[in-house]
Amino acid sequence: MPPSHRLLNTQYRIRRAHPMTPFAERMLRRTASATPAELAEFQERHLKSLIRVAAARSRFYREWFAGAGVDPRTIQGLDDLGRLPLLDRSHLVTNVGRFRTRPASTMWSAHSSGTSGRVVTVYRTPWSAVVEHAILERQRRWFAVPARARSVILRGHVFGTDSVTRLVPGANQLLVSSFHLDDRHARRICDAVERFSPEVIEGWPSSIALLARQLRDRGRSMPVRVVVTSSEVTTAAQRALISESFAAPIADQYGQTERAAMAGVCEAGGYHVFPDYGIVELLPLPERPGRFEIVGTPLHNRGFPLFRYRTGDEVGPAPTTHCACGRAYPLIGTIDGRRDDAFTAADGRALPQPSIVLDDIQGLREAQIVQQGTGRFEIRLVPDTRYDADAVRTQARRNIDRYFGTGQQVNFVVMDRIPRTTAGKLRSAIVEPGPATVATGDGR
Ligand SMILES: [Zn+2]
Repeated sequence: MPPSHRLLNTQYRIRRAHPMTPFAERMLRRTASATPAELAEFQERHLKSLIRVAAARSRFYREWFAGAGVDPRTIQGLDDLGRLPLLDRSHLVTNVGRFRTRPASTMWSAHSSGTSGRVVTVYRTPWSAVVEHAILERQRRWFAVPARARSVILRGHVFGTDSVTRLVPGANQLLVSSFHLDDRHARRICDAVERFSPEVIEGWPSSIALLARQLRDRGRSMPVRVVVTSSEVTTAAQRALISESFAAPIADQYGQTERAAMAGVCEAGGYHVFPDYGIVELLPLPERPGRFEIVGTPLHNRGFPLFRYRTGDEVGPAPTTHCACGRAYPLIGTIDGRRDDAFTAADGRALPQPSIVLDDIQGLREAQIVQQGTGRFEIRLVPDTRYDADAVRTQARRNIDRYFGTGQQVNFVVMDRIPRTTAGKLRSAIVEPGPATVATGDGR
């Protein structure tokens, strides 16, 4: 079994069969019927407990409380949260080990270049993983999806040269490569998906829309119970394609690799914050009136406590109406999260969420991949203290071969700072109009 497949099965088994799963499910059943006051009480109880752990065992917070002259015992409730400092990616880029309250070997690590191109590492406890999974399952139940429903997953998997789908029988999942949804492979993929007869389609909206288009172009449709999207903003055109081919509601999920805040769409169409996952603050953006940054304080991760983490994701004002589902979870406005430009490989294939090739590269403070022409890419790097030029180039080249296919041109540029957009954002994947004529093979 290839390593990626083994890893998937292992992760799945741990999350489903972990002995803590029933405790997480019981906790979530209680919060699902809670009143706003009960939810606030839940959050305060968990916040106080996390503050105690962080003040005692996280080097970052121990030093912060001492330096700021704040007695951690005085952080008693949600109103006190504002006394703690805001964190952002830069804290995790430079200080990640100082946040941990237990050895790294007892937790899972995850890496991401995220929305912003700043590369971070984070840690998750088993309980944190169990809660995350239970909350995702709960959202599926709102759409009458039974446990272990047959699900087609389109989330960036690739499986080597001649395989474009892979069955994970233990998980009732069919994984579909996000990078082969072109005319050459579409028939095989559409046939495999149809044979599998899914109840749920789940993954990146850009990939799901490519599958939806391939089905539509072949005159096929495939009604399912729900389409679960995550990791990117869904455009109106993608939404229309998805609705046409799958005849199902779209349940978007919002989260980050840092797992600071979570939100999702309910069966009545409301976009809810999940207050049993974390505390969400909306930070007004002075330069963008009416827009807010999502700031999260996760309540499920005692091994890697983060308070008031700036996600870098923007949101409009929250609706003032109540959701027809009747749950006390607050509603949130439209989230403007990860939005990679669409890339094209040398052979013309569409490449959804291209910044995936940067996600596991170590030793960088910032990273960006730029498409400068068909099959022609530039990787821009800002090294950190652990930077190893050969290792970075080798890993990036390997990722590009794996996700985009061999035969792509790649050019590396080391910078002090990656240029921001006019809105001041660092984006991890962009398309730039290349020069009209190029003197050399790589356009430099
Ligand atoms: Zn609702």
